[in-house]
Amino acid sequence: MRELEHDVNGPGTCIQFVQRTTQATYIEVTAGTGCHSIVGYNNHGKQEVSIGSGCEAKGIIMHELIHSLGFWHEHNRVDRDSYINIDLHNVQTSSQHDFTITTTAKATTLNTAYDFNSIMHYSPYTFAVDKLKPVITPKPGKAPVNARLGQRINLSPTDVLKIQRLYGCHEGKL
Ligand SMILES: [Zn+2]
Repeated sequence: MRELEHDVNGPGTCIQFVQRTTQATYIEVTAGTGCHSIVGYNNHGKQEVSIGSGCEAKGIIMHELIHSLGFWHEHNRVDRDSYINIDLHNVQTSSQHDFTITTTAKATTLNTAYDFNSIMHYSPYTFAVDKLKPVITPKPGKAPVNARLGQRINLSPTDVLKIQRLYGCHEGKL
């Protein structure tokens, strides 16, 4: 939480995670089953952010918190078919919904470039049945040479920009 605030706010206070007191709608970070979070504000009381067994890493926790801030996965963007190929034949039927494109009613690109280095992007092999074959492959010439698909280390500059833009914060490097 502090790293997210630092990256997005710099010395400011645009987004802040605070201890809940009487807020009707709030997130509760729990050691639940797996790593998951509802996307955005749902106006129905408690929203679970599950940091289960195997999820206790800073990058994964930041990823889940960014879901709670209102962001879907980067590879679900409306324009993703211009940047990546997805081999659904290598994904179990029960997980194929994780690769559907998000409707524009739910999310826009916020006028940002497709971000292969987003902390919200899957790795090429996430949910792969045959672990030797990538599910996600960048289209030729689209990914930067230093692309780190699926990295869970830190927010990319575009991750920071998108949060700043959605919340009306001061934009840019701070
Ligand atoms: Zn996720």
